[in-house]
Amino acid sequence: MPKASIKSADFASLYETFTRSRTDLWSKFTPYDYATREIVADLTPDCTAIHCKGARHCERDNRTIACRGFPFYPYLTRQREFVGIGTYWVFEDRCWMMSNLERVDRPFVEQFIATYEALFIKDPSEFNTYVEFSASARRVHSRWKREIPLLGRQGELLMVEPSSGAIRAGRRKDFPKANPFDSEKAYREAVTEAGGEVPKEGLRAA
Ligand code: SF4
Repeated sequence: MPKASIKSADFASLYETFTRSRTDLWSKFTPYDYATREIVADLTPDCTAIHCKGARHCERDNRTIACRGFPFYPYLTRQREFVGIGTYWVFEDRCWMMSNLERVDRPFVEQFIATYEALFIKDPSEFNTYVEFSASARRVHSRWKREIPLLGRQGELLMVEPSSGAIRAGRRKDFPKANPFDSEKAYREAVTEAGGEVPKEGLRAA
């Protein structure tokens, strides 16, 4: 279909027409408990819940945008300005990258922003989803009395004061490391507990 004619409802049909014709990595997701039923119930009618076969079977070329962007989401202000990228905070204890935001390189941030800007033009409902999601980030962090860490459009560190929405420049020390990434010992214990193999370089980036 010509790109210019894509409408939001077409994204749901991508599962049928695009993914199934090139891979069997993805299949429709059936909720199995309260939490997953809630997640699926929250989806807009033009969305289809799908899941992959798991990390061991990952096909890099057939990943979704969500896979490629993880752990980041587009952060939009109350004025609906796309000022940078935030992180899915519920994963902060499992995602090394979220404890090392200063290492995210500028080309990734620029490509992430360019991709979502293109997507927002083609699918305004996606834009509204992230307006609401960013508001929910402000509500959650406000309750926690914690600032929201962001990477700005040029990859710079930023901090959002959640109740006012004010944004200031961030410094490395403003971005605490989440457990288990706050010490070599905690990291090794967490890897061992999960049955994994501790990398030779430990917590240090390769
Ligand atoms: S990146 Fe993760 S979620 Fe995405 S296809 Fe690969 S294993 Fe599945």
